[in-house]
Amino acid sequence: MASFSRSSQLSGGQPPSSILFGVDIDTLDNPGWSVKIDLEDTLLENKSFTQIEKDETDQSWLRCRVEDKKFFGCGDPDRLGEILSIFLSWVKTESDWLTVHHESSVEAELRHDREFWSALGDEVELAQCSYPGCDRRRIQHSVFCRSHHFEMMRSKPAPADD
Ligand SMILES: [Zn+2]
Repeated sequence: MASFSRSSQLSGGQPPSSILFGVDIDTLDNPGWSVKIDLEDTLLENKSFTQIEKDETDQSWLRCRVEDKKFFGCGDPDRLGEILSIFLSWVKTESDWLTVHHESSVEAELRHDREFWSALGDEVELAQCSYPGCDRRRIQHSVFCRSHHFEMMRSKPAPADD
């Protein structure tokens, strides 16, 4: 049994956090090797893997599959290297597979602004916006136009309409 931890990238002035990432290599009494690698929260967790089954003889066999966000490999006593190479060549198609994207606080605020803005909807009411000097019409359930409603609720200018 072995495990190692990976550090996530620094973001938004937060201290780095570590997630235990399980890699288990055990022996089988067949005899043989068993390898289990946890893929959860990595870029590989939803990546497709074509199952491999090489059952040449009772003494010469190897199987690899991905199931429930885990890589499982097993094989006869001479195949540990081959199992790990199969895993690594699959991994290498995602060069930054250990990188987890963490949203920074600035990115999160921008996303909330955009979500709020699009939820406001179009200016559909016939009455004019109550903001002094504004001649735009009101959005539903508000006395303001879309931009002024956003400004009132978020205390900052509305994002550019796109
Ligand atoms: Zn307005």
